[in-house]
Amino acid sequence: MALRDIEITVRGIVQGVGFRPFVYRLANALGIRGAVMNTSEGVRIAARGDEASLDAFLREIRENPPPLASIHSVEEKEGDAVSLDGFVIRQSETSSHRSAFVSPDIALCDDCLSELLDPRDFRYGYPFITCTNCGPRFSITDDIPYDRKNTSMAAFPMCRTCEGEYRDPDNRRFHAQPNACPACGPRIALMDNAGTIISYGPRDAAARAVALLREGKIVAIKGVGGYLIACDAGNDEALARLRRRKGRPFKPFALMAGSIGIVEGLAEVSPKERELLLSRERPIVLLKTRGLRAENLVSPGLTHLGFMLPYAPFQHILFEIDPAMVLVMTSGNIADEPIIHRDDEALARLSRVADYFVSYNREIVAQSDDSVLFVEDEVPFFIRRSRGYVPAPFPSRPVKEQLLATGGDLKNSFALAKEGIMVLGQYLGDLAMASGDEQFRRTLSHYMRIYDFSPTAVVSDLHPGYFTTAFADELEAKGLRRFAVQHHHAHIASVMEEHGLDGTVIGIAFDGTGYGPDGALWGSEFLLADRRSYERAAHFAEFSLPGGESAIRDVWKIGVSLLHGFSIEAPEILDTLPDADMVKEIIAKKINSPLSTSVGRLFDGVSALLGICRHASTEAEAAMLLEEAAFRGKGDAAPDAAPFDRKRGVIDTGHFVRRALDIAARRGAEEASLLFHRDIALTALRVAECLREEKNINVVALSGGAFQNRLLLRFIMDYLREKQFDVYVPSKIPFNDGGIAAGQIAIAREIMA
Ligand code: ZN
Ligand code: ZN
Ligand code: FE
Repeated sequence: MALRDIEITVRGIVQGVGFRPFVYRLANALGIRGAVMNTSEGVRIAARGDEASLDAFLREIRENPPPLASIHSVEEKEGDAVSLDGFVIRQSETSSHRSAFVSPDIALCDDCLSELLDPRDFRYGYPFITCTNCGPRFSITDDIPYDRKNTSMAAFPMCRTCEGEYRDPDNRRFHAQPNACPACGPRIALMDNAGTIISYGPRDAAARAVALLREGKIVAIKGVGGYLIACDAGNDEALARLRRRKGRPFKPFALMAGSIGIVEGLAEVSPKERELLLSRERPIVLLKTRGLRAENLVSPGLTHLGFMLPYAPFQHILFEIDPAMVLVMTSGNIADEPIIHRDDEALARLSRVADYFVSYNREIVAQSDDSVLFVEDEVPFFIRRSRGYVPAPFPSRPVKEQLLATGGDLKNSFALAKEGIMVLGQYLGDLAMASGDEQFRRTLSHYMRIYDFSPTAVVSDLHPGYFTTAFADELEAKGLRRFAVQHHHAHIASVMEEHGLDGTVIGIAFDGTGYGPDGALWGSEFLLADRRSYERAAHFAEFSLPGGESAIRDVWKIGVSLLHGFSIEAPEILDTLPDADMVKEIIAKKINSPLSTSVGRLFDGVSALLGICRHASTEAEAAMLLEEAAFRGKGDAAPDAAPFDRKRGVIDTGHFVRRALDIAARRGAEEASLLFHRDIALTALRVAECLREEKNINVVALSGGAFQNRLLLRFIMDYLREKQFDVYVPSKIPFNDGGIAAGQIAIAREIMA
């Protein structure tokens, strides 16, 4: 049979995932001669074989790649004649064109786990065990191509044993860049919070850490993307201390348990939730707990709590020592700052939170928090997209220029677009915090390196006070094309981007805060939106936010504003609030009282009026407690939609408040909370029906941070689907402001095209 020579280029996540050994074994099995190498574009293969073998070769590459690979394209062309006798794996080459992708950080695989726990294995208890199928990638990679010299493993030359594995194509560690063992790799140590080393060596450090945790001590543990702070979830005294030291009275802590069985004992786990918990991304999944005490300090008064399973080897060792232990595992940070990942900063800043530190001598190049999802109707929703998911690119429509979207200042994630991909950066927290802008710049320049990215166009939010807007202005001054996108248009466009929707959709953006072009703070927007522009078809009637941003904490002020603004008489409630007259005066004189249509703030205000939460320690606390109250309602009353003035596009916000107070007076706050959710959902349906009738559009896209309220999400999805709407929700891109950069990309790309 005639032999042919072909050259194959594979693009996508194909480096650091065992792709070359896979190709090597495949070629040998099919009798194909040639070579495979990593290039900055991906993987290139020179192959000589007969027609049938080459067909089979290409088919297997496309259809059965290694588990961690994600192939975007396989290109084939005539190649130079192959002169080799067999098939070889060649050294990487660096070219000027760089588009290979770095894999996300992946949880320890089962093979490595069994070696980790096997006393006969020479890596027994070694917390940096890894192979081609698992372990750190993004967090240790400084540049591409993904080679040891471009990672923070460069500081650890391999010993002969590790080197042997690394060079053996039949070994699971063939070309595993972070390959290491106790003789040659990074080391772990337990220290007190002054930095004095107490214990070297992983087994001993782990055993002593477990003992300290069981004594009620707080231990900071350097993980994959940064420091996590651990304490015994069963120890109320330790929890109270942790809350005090972190200045965090309310915000729930995530828990880590040693096995899915323990999680199932503490919370209800659906098949989808179970799949996510056990996935190689190992995110935090919010689960419905089985009757936690209301005064529980892990998550005061909340039904849903975040759980995750161990993903890093050291975590597995902790739970092997004490399988029954349940640990709080919360990001090592101050307030809403990004997670701390540098050792000097950790010791300096976390020593007032943690009593002890477990650390190691390998640098974390790129920080990332644990990702957080919840599942509703067996669909996953991102609250935080970070470790395990970033920096995997989304295939997307081609864009002519390289485009940067700066996102928003809260729950920031930026996005990049080039050559048919979009990359969404990891969660960077609240950029208004001290080190936020520095973190943003550093993370962006890391992405620019690993994606060989240099933007010629930039897009931001409209908010004049955002750092992300100022940063885009900075780039514009350097000559980049500049776009600005309204916040809620971006929310809706992110859903269009995820689902490939075109044309005009009915976009419902229920949100905390987004800057409107009229200067008001929007957040209850019904948009007729396409990928270029939008019409604000409807919104809730505006109310004042007395004191501006401070109203996010002093939610009772929003309560007063709602009563005052919608002329609702409720003297018995006003009497219970700190200083209603002062608030009315601030509003009347228009002193720092921006107008808002925000659903998030409406929830806050109603929560205050129902006496559920009057002072919030953190954003959305009052709204979350209102949802909790609604969970306890029976819900036997019929919902009623608010009047909607189509001409002005205004929905009567006062209706919701009046009804809630009326029901509360007669049937209690829980019933009122539940009906309040239903009234809003029914109103959303009625408005959508009105727009469908008028414009003949049946597609509805939902987005915005207020949909993290799963009761509201559930009701709206149910009501819309019952009336045969095609409902689209984001499930790969966050609902909240972590997703708006994706929408900014979608819109700017369309305008440029
Ligand atoms: Zn492994
Ligand atoms: Zn070694
Ligand atoms: Fe938003």
